[in-house]
Amino acid sequence: MGATAGATMEVVNPYDQSVIRTVDDGDRADAEAAVAAARTAFDEGEWPSWTPRQRAELLHRVGHLLQRDRAEIARLETLDTGKTLTEGGIDVDDVTAVFHYYGGLAEEDSGRLVDAGDPRVRSRVVHEPVGVCALITPWNYPLLQASWKVAPALAAGNTLVIKPSETTPLTTIKMVELIAEAGAPAGVVNLVLGPGGTAGAALVESPQVDLVSFTGGLETGRRIMRDAARTVKNIALELGGKNPNIVFADADFEAAIDYALMAVFFHAGQVCSAGTRLIVEESLHDDFVAALVERAERIRLGNGLDEDTESGPLVSAEHRDKVESYVGIALQEGARLVAGGRRPEEPALQNGFFFRPTVFVDCTEDMRIVQEETFGPILTVERFTTEERAIELGNHTEYGLAGAVWTRDAARAERVARRLRHGTVWINDFGPYLPGAEWGGFKHSGIGRELGLEGLAEYRQAKHIYENTAPEPQRWFTR
Ligand code: NAD
Repeated sequence: MGATAGATMEVVNPYDQSVIRTVDDGDRADAEAAVAAARTAFDEGEWPSWTPRQRAELLHRVGHLLQRDRAEIARLETLDTGKTLTEGGIDVDDVTAVFHYYGGLAEEDSGRLVDAGDPRVRSRVVHEPVGVCALITPWNYPLLQASWKVAPALAAGNTLVIKPSETTPLTTIKMVELIAEAGAPAGVVNLVLGPGGTAGAALVESPQVDLVSFTGGLETGRRIMRDAARTVKNIALELGGKNPNIVFADADFEAAIDYALMAVFFHAGQVCSAGTRLIVEESLHDDFVAALVERAERIRLGNGLDEDTESGPLVSAEHRDKVESYVGIALQEGARLVAGGRRPEEPALQNGFFFRPTVFVDCTEDMRIVQEETFGPILTVERFTTEERAIELGNHTEYGLAGAVWTRDAARAERVARRLRHGTVWINDFGPYLPGAEWGGFKHSGIGRELGLEGLAEYRQAKHIYENTAPEPQRWFTR
């Protein structure tokens, strides 16, 4: 849908600041028009009468089209976000799996009979779509985050408006085109491009919208929760994380180092579940940090399209400034810089928003660098001597998105995993998620879940149908 005022915005490649494409820059009026289209399609269109089987087939067709255009989409995601082409390709595969997963669930009958204790009564709980859903996504995993919302919303029979981040809209535009090609009726999936403060806010405030599902920063999440209150919407929030990676001295050293690096420096740390807080047992600390720093220094920064690039740039100049500002904050607080902390010097990287992988040691739990989400390639290292203290440090954050524990002691791994107040815990691993397993945050990391059965339940609402099969006068009132 084009912007009614004719405004446009440039989408910039963070590797070299070249303009990839100019797209519509929508405002409140565009958001309201998209909501109206979704409302009409839900209230009056053919979509609500589609069978679960038809919806399932639509989702599977989208999955096939994503694979047909895999190379093109991966390239677009790389140009737009700066991530490597390998990561872009993995994202397309993951997104495909999400569409097929919810295609599989669309046909599952989620209703049940309830025994009313009276043979004349047939009591059923059925599930209906929530209605018109506003889906608002961030810039770090544009396609992936969109799929976690779009696929279950369609599986459940909703109509929707999606607003991607103004920084990285390209693969969402492509996804919406593919859903249309797959045969979704007009008005079922609507795209709004534009800034959060206007186009996004209009979606949240609209009385025509029944549900807002948002992924993004904590402050924006708070604001959306407040703005949605006036119209008492369903909301689902996937917010930030400050995720602990706890390593006991008996862990597999090589594997733990390897994963610790990937946990924090993958996609230049722009991952909500990035393992930015390394919490290491005292006796292992010095050897572990030495090995980690040696490898962090060797990470090859570059153009995501080049095969030998291991990490791309940050997404924008503004974001790099924010990440960089944390170096001064950390030093002032007494953390000791042992790797990175600066922009790279290579001439080839000067037009991109690069920042070197950075490691701080001597960190303590109340430092801002340990508590605030930098959303960049910055690792802090804390130490512990007892299991109890490791758990305490792991939980010492307002967030609760994800965490990991590394140990060869299975009983200890289980104890720590159960006591960490985070929505996902990895044991001797870091990072994987599965379409069939719920994803989401404890504490300030969010409300609700994406993926898995609960990720579909967000988009359904229960209805109790109580049927009296043999009604007779009750004579409650006798006169
Ligand atoms: P952001 O909060 O700045 O923006 C996210 C989206 O919200 C964008 O589309 C933006 O335009 C829109 N928006 C901004 N203000 C709005 C408003 N007032 N009303 C409605 N919409 C508005 O976040 P970001 O910088 O794009 O993304 C980074 C953040 O996302 C990080 O904090 C990260 O942890 C989080 N994130 C969380 C998860 C998760 O699964 N929990 C996944 C990815 C990213």
